[in-house]
Amino acid sequence: MLRINNVEVVYNKSILAIRGVSLEVPDGKIVALLGSNGAGKSTTLKAISGLLKQEGGAITEGTIEFEKEQIHGMDPDKIVEKGIFQCIEGRRVFTHLTVEENLLTGAYTRKDRKNIPDDIERVYHYFPKLKMLRKKLSGLLSGGEQQMLAIGRGIMARPKILLLDEPSLGIAPLLVKEIFENIKQINTEEGTSILVVEQNANIALSIADYAYVLENGRIVMQGSVDKLLSDESVKAAYLGFD
Ligand code: ATP
Repeated sequence: MLRINNVEVVYNKSILAIRGVSLEVPDGKIVALLGSNGAGKSTTLKAISGLLKQEGGAITEGTIEFEKEQIHGMDPDKIVEKGIFQCIEGRRVFTHLTVEENLLTGAYTRKDRKNIPDDIERVYHYFPKLKMLRKKLSGLLSGGEQQMLAIGRGIMARPKILLLDEPSLGIAPLLVKEIFENIKQINTEEGTSILVVEQNANIALSIADYAYVLENGRIVMQGSVDKLLSDESVKAAYLGFD
């Protein structure tokens, strides 16, 4: 279980990005964190994965606990070793490396090197397209294929929880649907918990168990997906549905 309690993040000692954010990701569940541009979704993910510091951000209040251990303040590598992996944005894969070389970079903290070839095959099981493209330079892939590769890198780290930052961004609708089906399949077959940040509420809620809505750095709504979708006023106000 990942538990964030009352977290506040400030950038450059002056910009308050999120405040009083509390959320939980139970083992094996898919949780969606929704909200519009600038709401604080990426900031929340970076607070968890330890990537805030390199952007001039700091957690100024609250705690982050994973499997009953406080993880905030730990180095990003240490957090990966604990089993939390934030997928890089699809467009930030290493464009000068092939697909397979990129996948290998996802395994950098792994000590059980002998299992790595099997894990590459597991990635190809979820994303057969990547197998066909395995020798291709990643810079030549489409946006959707790069997103698959970014998630594939995540699988290579054998995480207990995957953090995904807007997997739908800039990708054709048909491919978005496919990628979210792949994410659900990884969750079901590997038991990996998922925290997915999305502006596209519709697609995120199609696979999530529970969702939170962020607005101006605060959680303004939360609930099981069944409950949120059955409330017309919530749908209209927060989820962008008609
Ligand atoms: P988007 O979907 O546009 O990425 P978001 O919900 O992920 O939005 P964040 O990127 O977390 O939002 O941004 C939250 C707030 O923090 C915004 O006001 C943003 O301008 C500010 N912010 C984010 N990153 C930085 C940074 N490196 N330095 C200063 N301010 C930042």
